[in-house]
Amino acid sequence: RLTLIIFSLIIVISYSGNSIAQKQAPVQLLQLATGNDSTITLNEEVVKNLFLNSKLKDRKVVVLSIVGAFRKGKSFLMNYLLRYLYAHYPSLTSTELINEGDDWMGEPEEPLTGFDWKSGVERVTKGLILWGDVFLHDGPRNEKYAIYIMDTQGLFDTETTTAENSKIFSLSTLISSIQILNIFNLLHEDQLQYLQFATEYARFGSSAMDSDKTPFQDLLVLIRDWNGVDEYRYGLRGGNAYLNRFLEIKDHQSKELQSVRRYIKSSFKNINCVLMPYPGKTVAVDKRFDGRWISIDDDFVTIMTELFNHLFKELKPKMINGKAIKSDELLVFINSYVESFKN
Ligand code: GDP
Repeated sequence: RLTLIIFSLIIVISYSGNSIAQKQAPVQLLQLATGNDSTITLNEEVVKNLFLNSKLKDRKVVVLSIVGAFRKGKSFLMNYLLRYLYAHYPSLTSTELINEGDDWMGEPEEPLTGFDWKSGVERVTKGLILWGDVFLHDGPRNEKYAIYIMDTQGLFDTETTTAENSKIFSLSTLISSIQILNIFNLLHEDQLQYLQFATEYARFGSSAMDSDKTPFQDLLVLIRDWNGVDEYRYGLRGGNAYLNRFLEIKDHQSKELQSVRRYIKSSFKNINCVLMPYPGKTVAVDKRFDGRWISIDDDFVTIMTELFNHLFKELKPKMINGKAIKSDELLVFINSYVESFKN
């Protein structure tokens, strides 16, 4: 009997740690079939749990999504974002805050869990991944929000065709209220052109449902390993100065460069940019690195915290046709986007 009690105690203790992955996991929301067959499947189980949950009734949705090439630190950053969220908001599965407030990063040596990160091989599935939990925010003026976090799989890897890329990119832009575009070192003209292409594709897919002039909400260009710090400082201020300069329309530019800039500016209601420092050698190259924050350069941690505070300072709900939408309504739109992207 004593052995049984000790055994049960061990189990309880080992499951009561702070590690978020013990309770929640990422879930596939949309899956794109590979090869000639371009079907997109919506995961019904996920839909039932995360969009039709009675606890979310009457909450407006906020969907934060990240897109960008494979192995550029997207999931790493999203996993720290999850820690930040668990420290600031209750969620569907956890009513208690974990490492509340300024202690949001947790123990210095705690391995990083959450979305699958640091995976050395290219992922087989392509599509949109949601964090399998929803954060609940009650604002001071009685606003009630449900916050979803979304990652993308298979974007810009060697296996993915341009058409598939555009579908994934467009669907995530259509579904999200904040789209984070994760890129390395610098903005390039071809990235701007790609963004135009993908947003045109998305506008086409949504044209039947959304008549808004600026169809997409917030775009955040996140530049990793910024090395032009002499000219533009790390963070949002430096980033916005850099981005404004890049998006400037000048007389000597070709018509094409000017029109890309006009198009991007007219597609999103707000565009911001953040310049991230290099996180340090351990994060960038050490194969044994488990994500613990003690090994991340201080500069990176400071700017990451600044970024998260900015993202959640003032929540804006997902708007479609000028109306803030709720979880079940978002699901209706997701279904129609999926239908229009099937061919
Ligand atoms: P994802 O495929 O874009 O989601 O990339 P991961 O989050 O899985 O990270 C891929 C690798 O990049 C990991 O080894 C991380 O430790 C590393 N990494 C994370 N953030 C950064 C960063 O800002 N700069 C650099 N150079 N490497 C990073």
